[in-house]
Amino acid sequence: MHKFLADIVFPVAQSPIKNGVVITDDKGKIVDITPFELHDEGTVLKFSGAIVPGFINTHCHLELSHLKGKAKTGTGLIDFIKQVVTQRATNGEEIDNAIIIAENEMLQNGIVAVGDISNQTDTFLQKSKGNLRYHTFVECFDFMRTEEAKAIFDKYVEVYEKLILPTGHKKSLVPHANYSVSETLFALINNRNETNSTISIHNQETPAEEDLFLKGESEFTSFFGNIGFKMDDIKTVGLPAIYYALKNLKPTDTILFVHNTLTQAKEIIAAQNLFPKTYWATCPNANLYIENRLPDYKQFIESNAALCIGTDSLTSNWQLSILEEMKTIQQYQSSMPFEIILKWATINGAKALQFDDTLGSIEKGKTPGLVLLENFDGEKLTKNTKAKRLI
Ligand SMILES: [Zn+2]
Repeated sequence: MHKFLADIVFPVAQSPIKNGVVITDDKGKIVDITPFELHDEGTVLKFSGAIVPGFINTHCHLELSHLKGKAKTGTGLIDFIKQVVTQRATNGEEIDNAIIIAENEMLQNGIVAVGDISNQTDTFLQKSKGNLRYHTFVECFDFMRTEEAKAIFDKYVEVYEKLILPTGHKKSLVPHANYSVSETLFALINNRNETNSTISIHNQETPAEEDLFLKGESEFTSFFGNIGFKMDDIKTVGLPAIYYALKNLKPTDTILFVHNTLTQAKEIIAAQNLFPKTYWATCPNANLYIENRLPDYKQFIESNAALCIGTDSLTSNWQLSILEEMKTIQQYQSSMPFEIILKWATINGAKALQFDDTLGSIEKGKTPGLVLLENFDGEKLTKNTKAKRLI
């Protein structure tokens, strides 16, 4: 048995407790949360700051970790994609080492679970060690080449089948983005996944994506045309990009829309009406890195949207830390209460990845991990606030 005392405990599932004591068994399972008065001083481990549940990173591409610092900031999504495509290939050892370092960085920063996008098998060995709980999204794209969709899909199924899941981990096949997946490929993905899967999709990240669906052409048309991809199968014209996904996703699944930089209230509500289990992953630092703009969080809050947080990959971020993402949100939305952002960083992410059986809140019977936030008064994160993993 272990007793952790802090100035304030945020269980997430209930109100914060000043001078709260979290009691766990030797395996980190929560036994109780009680006020300090019930304990002898000598029996508790005392910490200055706040105790919160382990963080959930709902969007990462661990396999791109070796590209850290290689893409220029603020150039926009199309230029960013070009930089990734041209620099991605390197030797296996460099890729493997970067994955190990990146995973360890997440562990140190108090992250306990990750929704990780994989196009390839590079991360599977590290995932098999079970250091973090992963929901692996094997991501498919055919750039609207309908006639090749089946052959392309079969290659991704091969990747999917190579991933042997450690206990408690999950996997699903997912579409990359609205602009890169044909309706044929969508149908193949839907048919292959188990019922009630979590499906992640990059959504409304850049004006070129919106224009493509609204006007039928944009910067994307020539970009993809130049690299030999066919765009004339885009069928939804005259509506924002998300409607293409809404038409092709399955309502029984849990849907995780990622980025949503341009998503408006009307679209948020349309999605939530069609898909009762809709989650919105925001990756603020990656948005600032690539496009230098953020989603309009107010529209999400007013639409009762379940937001969660992702770091994206080290290709488009300076670090892999949910706390740093929370700081950025608070910096741009200073009226947003800490408790709301903490919900995004923990329980909402756990629900989106379907890991809320054990993670996301400090509740009896769960093993959420405990993170100490040092240099934190319980209300405002500052640049000196640090996350330290307790368990
Ligand atoms: Zn991404």
